[in-house]
Amino acid sequence: MLATFAYVRPASLGDAVKQLGKDGALAHSGGTDLVGCLRDGVMKAGTVVSLSRLDDLRGVTATPEGGLRIGALTTIAAIAAHPTIKEKYAALAQAASVVASPQLRNQGTIGGNLCQRPRCWYFRGDYDCARKGGDVCYAADGENQYHCIFGGGRCQIVHPSDTAPALIALDASVRVAGPKGTRVVPLEKFFVLPADDVTKETVLDKGEIVTDVLLPPVDPAMKSSYRKVRARGSWDFALAGLAIAIARKGDRVERVRAVLSGVAPVPWRAAGLERALVGQKLEARTIARAAEAAVAGAEPLEQNAYKVPLVRGVVEEVLGTYIP
Ligand SMILES: Cc1cc2nc3c(=O)[nH]c(=O)nc-3n(C[C@H](O)[C@H](O)[C@H](O)COP(=O)(O)OP(=O)(O)OC[C@H]3O[C@@H](n4cnc5c(N)ncnc54)[C@H](O)[C@@H]3O)c2cc1C
Repeated sequence: MLATFAYVRPASLGDAVKQLGKDGALAHSGGTDLVGCLRDGVMKAGTVVSLSRLDDLRGVTATPEGGLRIGALTTIAAIAAHPTIKEKYAALAQAASVVASPQLRNQGTIGGNLCQRPRCWYFRGDYDCARKGGDVCYAADGENQYHCIFGGGRCQIVHPSDTAPALIALDASVRVAGPKGTRVVPLEKFFVLPADDVTKETVLDKGEIVTDVLLPPVDPAMKSSYRKVRARGSWDFALAGLAIAIARKGDRVERVRAVLSGVAPVPWRAAGLERALVGQKLEARTIARAAEAAVAGAEPLEQNAYKVPLVRGVVEEVLGTYIP
């Protein structure tokens, strides 16, 4: 049952930030995640602050630097269909197109997708787990087939977002508004590992909201993509996935950013994979080395060791598509 809360729809960003600074206030964008969390008692709200009147936070526009600014209230469907994003930031368009179902993509927003809560069944269930302030991660010795193989420690969740790894591969940032003003945070530094704070997924402070996603100008030599593996063809979260942006000079990889989804509590930058590619020709033995490097240091749990060969396979498959 949905608990009682106050509901406000501020008309300005300043007022929204003020309302969100109050104890127990939560931001409401599309509501596709928030309402389920409130109904199931995963989070409690004193006040739900709807962002729906903040029209400036909707839409995609070019920045003076030649990049793109995506308002936080832009729907996932609009991002998947946007011609410039499809052409120049393919990883993001591809990631957006495989988020959830058409209904959820029409309602869910990019701001909400980045700030959604984890899908772990212990966190979502009636368990006083570490992420909810308890002492125990029930997944560590429990049902952990969908949990992490990197970066777990005190909490074994995987980050649920498909757009976040794509945006990090594309070197995006988010603009955040809060009681102390606005700040820009590289998306790579936006997410929080359990070792740093087990009770939150992002660096947002009380009263802060994401207002925009900022994409840098496109490097013409860069090609990007997102591949997601899920248990079924219908809506489902990633078992594993790879967002990658590769720039080549001649037949060699000059620069690369690679981020794994579905394997860690944050979108997981695959630094070893990147090192294995830079300066190399994209050919079978380079790809095999990169796939091995991508899983180096993995620490599977009792039921999710399948993710190790899965990641290796995804890396091999994706890099194969980049061979000229
Ligand atoms: C059945 C189902 C399947 C799904 N499958 C996938 C999937 O495959 N891949 C995937 O990536 N996602 C998936 N999702 C998650 C879905 O994409 C998110 O629910 C959606 O993107 C959230 O957007 P929203 O606007 O509805 O956010 P809301 O539900 O309004 O908010 C989500 C959370 O973010 C906070 N929030 C919202 N906007 C902001 C903001 N601007 N600044 C700061 N905090 C904010 C809210 O307080 C809340 O905690 C799935 C969800 C469901 C219900």
